[in-house]
Amino acid sequence: MFEDIPVDVSPMYEGERIRAANMFVELAGPKSIGAELVQVEEDVEDGKIEVIGPDLNGMTEGEIYPFGLLIQIKGEKLEKELEGVIERRTHELCNYIKGFMHLNQRDQIWCRVSKEAVESGFGFEHLGKAISILFKEEFPIIEAISIKVLTDREEVETFLDNASKQYEERDAKARELSDEDVDVFYGCVMCQSFAPTHTCVVTPDRTALCGAINWFDCRAAAKMDPDGPIFEIEKGEVLDDVKGEYVNVNTVMADKSQGTVDRVYLHSVFGYPHTSCGCFEAVAFYIPELDGIGIVDRDYKGETPLGIPFSAMAGQCSGGKQVEGFAGLSLEYMRSPKFLQADGGYERIIWLPKAIKDSLIEFIPEDLADKIPTEEEANSIKEIRKFLREHEHPVVERLKESKKSAAQDVETEEVVEETATGSEFMVDEAPMQQVGYVPELTVPSSGGMKIIFKNAKIYAEKVIIKKK
Ligand code: SF4
Repeated sequence: MFEDIPVDVSPMYEGERIRAANMFVELAGPKSIGAELVQVEEDVEDGKIEVIGPDLNGMTEGEIYPFGLLIQIKGEKLEKELEGVIERRTHELCNYIKGFMHLNQRDQIWCRVSKEAVESGFGFEHLGKAISILFKEEFPIIEAISIKVLTDREEVETFLDNASKQYEERDAKARELSDEDVDVFYGCVMCQSFAPTHTCVVTPDRTALCGAINWFDCRAAAKMDPDGPIFEIEKGEVLDDVKGEYVNVNTVMADKSQGTVDRVYLHSVFGYPHTSCGCFEAVAFYIPELDGIGIVDRDYKGETPLGIPFSAMAGQCSGGKQVEGFAGLSLEYMRSPKFLQADGGYERIIWLPKAIKDSLIEFIPEDLADKIPTEEEANSIKEIRKFLREHEHPVVERLKESKKSAAQDVETEEVVEETATGSEFMVDEAPMQQVGYVPELTVPSSGGMKIIFKNAKIYAEKVIIKKK
């Protein structure tokens, strides 16, 4: 089947990583542009493969090139709604090709080709051929498939423009529905190959973490292949409609994670946040010093207010983990009225990169838009605090309230102490500051124990943060 292709093609290469030392070229990714798009068409010439722009043998070792991948498919049973789900399989199927590495999805793709693959004669035509065979094998309803590989910058730019319009159309359609309008949610376990305890729960209000699959896509996929990686979850009994906790979702999470995760809040980063695989578009992270939430996406290259970049943060909360205070999410979810609603939604957001803020500006409540700083206004906790105060961000009131109640607690303790000892009580001139409020936090510790803080307020005379 793959005889004409000079490299092996098999699922066993799915986890292959191509490091810089072994890389011939990089395609798309953070330092260039690129996209992938699956389109259901009426007229598709089966087996046609076109390469527009330089092929691998015309590229310079070590360079980075723009890259577009257009996959056109035809089939009597193929529906437009299946495009997103079929497109999402590009990641997995491309990775079956030895010497070709594919990361992410949509206009976030990032690929590398190994030196060995190029030395053995591998070119983009082979890539197209392997993808055509694999897609037809995976989806027997595809009757004809043609592939366009684009590496010419202008062509990729035009393609990217068109692809972005298609993504937006898909996303906009999903915005018409909300969780209350449906009886069924969907689960997706496509990422379990690298995140074994992760299941995405996709609802009308909560697009999948990868941002590539919405509720309509899932509906079409589950209908096409009921035993496939995307399946129905009867909405059933609601335990908490603000946090987004459902009996059936918890049961599915427990089942698919082999009991590792048995509770999930769909709309909160506290308590039991949704698990995170590794392909999330952004991470929401709790900033305890200010009792607010920051957002960082994978395109943001600087350090977050926590002092680490996106990549380090992603490393801490990916792989199917449920980490209190962190939640991987899609940018589309930030357009939903239910976006982190249990935590206060945008009223609790205190930092985000400018690029995200600009792209979401029409979804951020008007009265809050100027109150949320980006990296252009504030980066450190101190700068953010100052900005929030100056712009009267609602989180400032929240902090004042918790300080007030902390002071009352201290007074009560003083009275109790005086009564108990009958002696004079010295109040420190510099009262202790509340440095954090934690609705619920699990602290890992050794010896098979875990320490859980619930509604804890943390006070300290001094906090020393050391960088390792
Ligand atoms: S991120 Fe979620 S929805 Fe997207 S492919 Fe992975 S498991 Fe499926």
